[in-house]
Amino acid sequence: MTVDKDYRNTVCCPVLEDVEKKKQDLEDEIKQNLSRTKIIYNKVRERGSIYHEKFAKIYNDKCAYCGALWGLLPTESFEIDHYINEASFPDTTEGRIKAGRMENLVWSCTSCNRGKRGITIKAPYDELLNVDNGNIAAVFERDGDYYIRIRSTYQNDEFIRRFYEALHLNYETKRLDYMALQLERKYQTEKDEKKKHILGESLSLLLKRRNRISS
Ligand SMILES: [Zn+2]
Repeated sequence: MTVDKDYRNTVCCPVLEDVEKKKQDLEDEIKQNLSRTKIIYNKVRERGSIYHEKFAKIYNDKCAYCGALWGLLPTESFEIDHYINEASFPDTTEGRIKAGRMENLVWSCTSCNRGKRGITIKAPYDELLNVDNGNIAAVFERDGDYYIRIRSTYQNDEFIRRFYEALHLNYETKRLDYMALQLERKYQTEKDEKKKHILGESLSLLLKRRNRISS
């Protein structure tokens, strides 16, 4: 699917590429190194572990739902999301293996992940909201003030609205995360020391405000 612009990215952000393939490769790697692994989720969830970091890299360290950057927020602000929530699977070992398979795991900020917990994604929404292939960018967009909005095609779709609200995609914090990301990229590439300093100050003020709102 081609969309004019992925709301999760600023102009400086690299787009997600071959996410499904990279996830498969990581799964193969885990299974090869840890041959007794049944539930992949347990191997990538652990903060500070190599597989946790490799998993984040597949998503360019950004929340697959809102685009917030891991590096700009506290480490514990991110976790592994079950795309189809665990409640949709039987409460058995087999069910947990299925829920925790690599294909069903997504890199997410805690705000999106926890908000999404009570939402059960069923067909056709599983394809429509697919974050790995970018389909979700055809459902939401970024408005002129950097807020995430539902695209006009889906304005009257009740499930999409519920999903949007549950993940707090309309929140000020999601807007500030985007602005921070934009500032950070400008800061990184600015050559002029004075301008760089101002950008750095602005970024730290913005992040302070963001963290005040979210706490
Ligand atoms: Zn998020």
